[in-house]
Amino acid sequence: MRVNIVTLFPEYFDSPLEVSFVRRAIADGLLEVVTHDPRMHAKGAHRQIDDAPFGGGAGMVMMIEPLAKTLEPLADTHRVFLTPAGTPLDQAMLDRFATMPEITLVCGRYEGIDERIVEHFIDEEVSLGDFVLLGGEVAAAAIVEGVVRLLPGAIGNPASTESESFRSQLLEEPQYTRPSEYRGWKVPDVLLSGDHGAIERWRAEQRLSRTLERRPDLIDDEGSDG
Ligand code: SAM
Repeated sequence: MRVNIVTLFPEYFDSPLEVSFVRRAIADGLLEVVTHDPRMHAKGAHRQIDDAPFGGGAGMVMMIEPLAKTLEPLADTHRVFLTPAGTPLDQAMLDRFATMPEITLVCGRYEGIDERIVEHFIDEEVSLGDFVLLGGEVAAAAIVEGVVRLLPGAIGNPASTESESFRSQLLEEPQYTRPSEYRGWKVPDVLLSGDHGAIERWRAEQRLSRTLERRPDLIDDEGSDG
């Protein structure tokens, strides 16, 4: 899979791409990440990239031409603008992105980008959540991490991506590892029992009770879907 990231700060991605499974997926040729800096298409000695908003108001807006020239050659890819005004990112969206051979993630900065870019060059708008960041780079890095775990062969045990939170509309059950007791804090007895039926029943109960307590909306959503 190839991920293009349109960003004024390509160096932002240096270390996230150098870590753990992302680095390995790149080394193994499963993932290619290419940054594209719109400043390369900016004009003038100062390579101006932003300008004041029409109609007045605070802050600056990323100009249309450098972004248009960056995105035009990427017309065959699925182009995603990262914005608080987009559809909130979720697992189903990552599943969909992971099936695409090539995707382009556009990171805004300042007050955002000229809306004509969205109208003419963007296929989908995605938000990382109901908060405002300085730029779209964190959201792009989140998508790269979320997608890389889904690429066949990218992580050691594919079963771990099948059983985790959001796969079944339920949160994952709590996990424990050795030692079975630390400072008097014990792992639930059932997990040490060797009774696989009892363990699976306990896990199922935990998934349900956690979801009801923390994210009842996930279960409500499931009900409303049918
Ligand atoms: N003025 C914009 C607004 O009120 O929606 C916020 C601009 S923000 C300071 C600059 C850029 O950061 C945005 O264009 C977007 O690319 C990115 N960004 C900020 N928050 C984000 C979020 N929750 N999800 C995705 N991208 C975000």
